[in-house]
Amino acid sequence: MGDKLLFIYKTLLAHYGELNWWPTKTPYEVIVGAVLTQNTAWGNVEKAIAGFGDNLTPEFMENVGLAELTEIIRPAGFFNQKAGCLKAVTAWYAGYGYDAPTLQREPLAKLRTELLTTKGVGQETADSILLYAFGFMTFVVDAYTARLCGRYPIETGKGYEAVKAYFEGNLPQSAGVYNNFHALIVINAKEHCRKKPLCDGCPLGGTCWRCGI
Ligand code: SF4
Repeated sequence: MGDKLLFIYKTLLAHYGELNWWPTKTPYEVIVGAVLTQNTAWGNVEKAIAGFGDNLTPEFMENVGLAELTEIIRPAGFFNQKAGCLKAVTAWYAGYGYDAPTLQREPLAKLRTELLTTKGVGQETADSILLYAFGFMTFVVDAYTARLCGRYPIETGKGYEAVKAYFEGNLPQSAGVYNNFHALIVINAKEHCRKKPLCDGCPLGGTCWRCGI
């Protein structure tokens, strides 16, 4: 089973190359992006982020009024919920002095539990923050991952934790691999494995059970 997963990873990597998501962002910018991207396209997140101008800092988020914040993030949709979540997740980060190295000294399980009890933060958002903002070894599962697993198929078991455990149990223990593999799954879902799949040219076409069906 692990061979299948590694094969998929290597095939996607050979096709798209190393993606290294969010390499130039500060951890806080990644946190904000991970919240804003809930239930919306990344293009809308970019519009919302642009609205912050030079103010995309935890200090600004801590002090800005909710009315102003919801106006800034309106392009990302669900702005009332997301404003509350941004405030809550910023308060969580404040507990570590807005300092990534301080936070990175804490155990992953503790941080994940804290995030999962933070208002508006679900499993995907928590893992995105921990992996992409802070480099923790935690695999991010999203709708694209579930789609690929269902179609290829990859027998992961059902539910977020089962899929996450499957990937983590069958891949090299590496935050870099987790980072790249999730990004590769997303890009392939956008280019080929869409709701209505475009199997022509998909790098997984030669081995995917669903290819062309
Ligand atoms: S071959 Fe088709 S169904 Fe299979 S992963 Fe590629 S796009 Fe998706």
